[in-house]
Amino acid sequence: MPQTTDVVIVGAGVIGCATALELAKAGIRSTVVDASGIGTEASWAAAGVATHANPGRGPYSRLRRLGHKYFCEFVEELQKESAVDLGFERTGSLELSFTEEEEFDARKWDIEYVKCKLPRERLTRDEAIEAYTGISPDIIAARYQVNDCQIRNPRFSPAIAEAAKSRGAEFKLHTRVTGLIAAENRILGINTSDGEIHAGMTVLAAGVWSTALAKTIGLNLPLYPLKGQMAILEGPPGKLKHIIKGGGMYCIPRPDGKILIGATMEESGFDKRVTAEGIRSVLATAFKLAPCLKELPITHRWAGLRPYTARKGGPLLGPVPGLGNFIIATGHYRNGILLGPVTGLMVKELIRGEKTSLDLSAYSPDR
Ligand SMILES: Cc1cc2nc3c(=O)[nH]c(=O)nc-3n(C[C@H](O)[C@H](O)[C@H](O)COP(=O)(O)OP(=O)(O)OC[C@H]3O[C@@H](n4cnc5c(N)ncnc54)[C@H](O)[C@@H]3O)c2cc1C
Repeated sequence: MPQTTDVVIVGAGVIGCATALELAKAGIRSTVVDASGIGTEASWAAAGVATHANPGRGPYSRLRRLGHKYFCEFVEELQKESAVDLGFERTGSLELSFTEEEEFDARKWDIEYVKCKLPRERLTRDEAIEAYTGISPDIIAARYQVNDCQIRNPRFSPAIAEAAKSRGAEFKLHTRVTGLIAAENRILGINTSDGEIHAGMTVLAAGVWSTALAKTIGLNLPLYPLKGQMAILEGPPGKLKHIIKGGGMYCIPRPDGKILIGATMEESGFDKRVTAEGIRSVLATAFKLAPCLKELPITHRWAGLRPYTARKGGPLLGPVPGLGNFIIATGHYRNGILLGPVTGLMVKELIRGEKTSLDLSAYSPDR
């Protein structure tokens, strides 16, 4: 006999966990199934930066703006009930320009920030060096974004899962989902290494592995793994006080002195190995941004796979036309930690038949 539940969620990353919590808060019973533990893949490997709202006007920017606002509220609520310190810090970030070309691009963004009434302060080289510890003297200007914040993401998904469990959500871990069960234009549930689970609604939130699972019902998702390598340097607290960004990478100071540096952007399939070249490039950019990091010991290195979709507009989020009882929630690329809570909220809205917080047509999985 198949097991049954109201909603079955494939994947216990930040997207699956946040969905389970939002459903549980609305009194909807869900079962989250994961081949591994809670938040062990990209949701663990991430840097944990919630970048302040992107000022553009496209659908991805709109989602990120709403996502940032909701993320901060969600984390503050979660912290009240979690015994674990989530390390939520409104650190602010400093984006450095080293060349006239970078400065030209940054000025274009300045205009967009003003249009969208978002805070961003331009500093001259001397102002930045005087005000912000540890940054390179080779810059020509910098931008301070007060609302950028960070969280200790390895603690985030487990804390969300605990909150969901305390409201009745079930987690079936170390159970591999082997396929989706389709019947008459709808999804009945899933096949797992521990038998079938049938549900009124199935949510596919398996990060980069969603592609293979979608294929079991003949669905091609435009979703690919994009590897990111990172490292931790062990510094004394205060070596850097803000998130420092530049050259597509960042240095993130934690209050305990650890500084995360990363991340590469590599197309190397499902290979999660840390490579010499990957770590070299991360270190080279980090030293360019903040030369004071050179003497610090490296304590950890790792890699994770971002679920990347080449489609414009951001993630693949919503129902699949012609296939009932089925929602896809993946493709959050570099912003899944930031967008996890708002994704959970909108999946819950879809399942309850409510008007979604944003019009989801721009994120449709079949666009
Ligand atoms: C190096 C790096 C840095 C990043 N930095 C940031 C950042 O600073 N800020 C930010 O917002 N985002 C960041 N991201 C992106 C973010 O981590 C992802 O977008 C997000 O974690 C995706 O979450 P997810 O739940 O979709 O996927 P995942 O966390 O990958 O979870 C997918 C889950 O599905 C499970 N699964 C897979 N296949 C199966 C199966 N067959 N059966 C059962 N379970 C299965 C896996 O075990 C896993 O637990 C970063 C990512 C990387 C790699």
